[in-house]
Amino acid sequence: MNRDAPATCTCCHSPLWDTEIVAGRYACYRCEDRAVEQLQAIRAMFKRLDTIDGLTKAQNAACGPTGTREAPIPARLAVLAQTGPGGVVAQLQAGIEDSWRAALGWTMIPNRTHRDIDGATTFLINNLPWACERYEEVADDLQAITTIHSRLNSLETGEAGPKKFTVYCDTDQCDGQLRITLWTSRATCSDCGTHYDKAQLAALGTQYDDREAAA
Ligand SMILES: [Zn+2]
Ligand SMILES: [Zn+2]
Repeated sequence: MNRDAPATCTCCHSPLWDTEIVAGRYACYRCEDRAVEQLQAIRAMFKRLDTIDGLTKAQNAACGPTGTREAPIPARLAVLAQTGPGGVVAQLQAGIEDSWRAALGWTMIPNRTHRDIDGATTFLINNLPWACERYEEVADDLQAITTIHSRLNSLETGEAGPKKFTVYCDTDQCDGQLRITLWTSRATCSDCGTHYDKAQLAALGTQYDDREAAA
């Protein structure tokens, strides 16, 4: 056991397993695995969006079934904002990689080119095990990865924001339903007014809902 190890994951707030506590981890293995998947998806989505086809697809998604091809500029700019200079690669490097290098005492590297999504994601995937175990601020970075992931996903699918689903209030006599995403940190039942934090929400009964995210 080293230092004052947290008993819950600093990212998802689930109780840590004994082995995770003994290892002194800040983030649980599930959060680490999810971040790896998200980074791999970010790399794949970036490459698809960073093409003429990707731009066209995002335009069509933004226009919707009744839209015309006359209004593609905002969607095109939204894609370029992610794939161009100052986009995802810069966000991953300046927002995460640089602070990990500093914490590890490693040499800083010059700014990656805005298309170096392979370099940016590979560095993070390779060093995630260290960060989840030893880097106290890792929860912020995992959250940032989730945000970038859902932003690219929205661009590609034309859906707004992370997927919502329904959980059921477990207060006696209450049939209330709460609409949340995987990243909702707290919510209140509108029927009975019970407040739930993230760990309590995770314990409620769930049912995935395939309707389009409303907001
Ligand atoms: Zn976790
Ligand atoms: Zn309720």
